[in-house]
Amino acid sequence: MHYVSTRGGIEPVGFQDAVMMGLAPDGGLLLPAHVPDVTDRLDAWRGLSYADLAVEIMLEYADLDRAALRRLVSRSCEKFSHPDITPVRAVGDLHILELFHGPTLAFKDVALQFLGNLFEFVLSRRGDRMNILAATSGDTGSAAIHGVRGRERIRIFVMHPRGRISEVQRLQMTSVLDENVFNLAVEGTFDDCQRVMKAVFGDLEFKRRYGLGAVNSINWARLLAQMVYYFYAAFRVQDMTGARSVQFAVPTGNFGDIFAGFLAGRMGLPVSRLVLATNENDILARFFKSGEYRPGPVHATLSPSMDIQVASNFERYLYYRLGERATALRGMMEDFSAAGRLAVAPLPGGAIDELIVAGTADRDATLQTIAVYRERHGCLLDPHTAVGVAVGSALRDRSAPMICLATAHPAKFPEAVREATGRDDLVRHPAVDRLRSMPTRCATIGAGVDEVKDFIRDHGKG
Ligand SMILES: *Cc1c(COP(=O)(O)O)cnc(C)c1O
Repeated sequence: MHYVSTRGGIEPVGFQDAVMMGLAPDGGLLLPAHVPDVTDRLDAWRGLSYADLAVEIMLEYADLDRAALRRLVSRSCEKFSHPDITPVRAVGDLHILELFHGPTLAFKDVALQFLGNLFEFVLSRRGDRMNILAATSGDTGSAAIHGVRGRERIRIFVMHPRGRISEVQRLQMTSVLDENVFNLAVEGTFDDCQRVMKAVFGDLEFKRRYGLGAVNSINWARLLAQMVYYFYAAFRVQDMTGARSVQFAVPTGNFGDIFAGFLAGRMGLPVSRLVLATNENDILARFFKSGEYRPGPVHATLSPSMDIQVASNFERYLYYRLGERATALRGMMEDFSAAGRLAVAPLPGGAIDELIVAGTADRDATLQTIAVYRERHGCLLDPHTAVGVAVGSALRDRSAPMICLATAHPAKFPEAVREATGRDDLVRHPAVDRLRSMPTRCATIGAGVDEVKDFIRDHGKG
């Protein structure tokens, strides 16, 4: 399989190059040259274990040999505490897809455990090394650290805004004492961290010299790993209910997770509806209602991992929405960066998309959903999952089962659960309890570009 840029400005590259590249040099995002139709394989795949299914799906996209891929997938499953990796549970009249059994209790582990193994594999084949630089407001940094800890060829530098992330998130990062992991508490805000990050990556000589790499959600391998659980969950729910097609509700920030579901549908998985759920940062919900994409101010909410205005994977969706016309997309993205907005015309029936419908759950709806699911079903939802469940219930089409993606374990966000239920004895997880007694390591650093570069020079692999 070859990979092309959404903006059409690069020669096609292979899978391994696509993964190491992150962003394409023309500013676009990488996508497979075509999406394989696997309809006639679905029945053969239906009974496979999570790991075996992952191998089959990934072989459609990755030029790796089967045995090597099998080892990568097996290693990527090792740190999950549930034998099914991503189990599905019936709760009331919904199905909950639990994506939080990895080491940092959020769905990003599924992709970042795999990405860490894949990076190490490619680097050792090439005799190369890399330094990963990331800025995090929470979940991405910890999942990335746990994905690459202890790897010989990788060092990781994760900046977080000092004093501005939750205690659980901070401890999940700083309690990792492996020599290749560097936590940087930046004296500033998350925006400062992102500004520094952009400036360091913008210094192309520095980037080349230190083999700087990124792990953000635009990396193709992350999407590939996330497609697997859409297939896995659909098969389980079809087994349970006998339904022909299924729907998914996905709490969304950067459009990464839901885009994996969109691709699964394009591959032939019978998905009749995808419900996109946002918190008060509703730019994507507004787009799927009106066709206009226009960023507004970022609001702090109960579901901080979705507090995003410009969704970095949205360009990939637009590429398909415009009929895979890279030139048209490039024009649209140029207009967007000049005018700060873009718009697409509705489809003949009036909808913006055939598959995706969208809605928003605000603070009250989120808290109420947590409280109701706990009372009626004894099921504790984290605030991100609650956004998906609230919107998924409201926008469900009654003719097919609804699978709601549970993107984090409630113990990761105890404040929201406490506020919703009035209790704080409900949210326990041994992995969180353990954190409080673990030793930590973290460097404090000013929000200057040169300070961060100096730190990488002193501690990175050259
Ligand atoms: C990152 C994250 C999301 C949003 O996922 P996207 O791929 O950015 O849409 C939702 N829930 C949790 C818990 C997350 O960490």
